[in-house]
Amino acid sequence: MEACKGTILVVEDDKHSSDFLMANLISDGYEALVADTGRKAISTTADTLFDLILLDLGLPDIDGMKVLKSIREWSEIPIIIVSSRTEEAGKVAALDAGANDYIEKPFGNNELLARVRAAIRIYRKCWCSKVEVSDSFTNGALQIDYSKHRIAKDGQIIHLTPIEHKIVVTLAQNAGKVLTHDFILRRVWGDDYLSDGQILRVNVANIRRKLEDNPAEPQYILTEVGVGYQMAEPEGVGG
Ligand code: CA
Repeated sequence: MEACKGTILVVEDDKHSSDFLMANLISDGYEALVADTGRKAISTTADTLFDLILLDLGLPDIDGMKVLKSIREWSEIPIIIVSSRTEEAGKVAALDAGANDYIEKPFGNNELLARVRAAIRIYRKCWCSKVEVSDSFTNGALQIDYSKHRIAKDGQIIHLTPIEHKIVVTLAQNAGKVLTHDFILRRVWGDDYLSDGQILRVNVANIRRKLEDNPAEPQYILTEVGVGYQMAEPEGVGG
């Protein structure tokens, strides 16, 4: 029998939705548990070691955003927001508050399982990399050596400005994760950063011209429209 892939907490008050999620997760080899209120979600997370939480934002007692913030006070467990709220502002707020990913209802089972797999894989990789700190990043032809401050493609050094370099390193150190505009601005420009998406867009456009084979169809630095950017994870990492 295949080993359990992980234990997932489904936070969802709508029975129809939670039945759908549970059935799909269990048939894919996960163990899963349902909490139908925000309070139960918080207390269950404190009691049990989960590998991931799927969190509905519209809960009957506490708003899902509050549940997210509360869990983030003590836990780094991957949290994927599952919500019918499609506004970009909600997405950005959830990611800024520490959500790892965001999936909009209605969604297909394959998309759900792919996002669950990715979030758990990144989390487990983080655990390992805390023991063995990685000093480089490689994705195909792109190589970043953090300690030598060197970024190369196909063995050729890519010349970036200090700001461009910081942006690439920030994205690479969080590869596979969507970083919001504000998160990147704060990391790169420091606490006095201005919430100015334009300056970031200009820098990313310049980086892509230097880094990507075709800047119009980037394969390394991906755009999450209205939310931020993400560095593509190397293929075949984890599993
Ligand atoms: Ca709901």
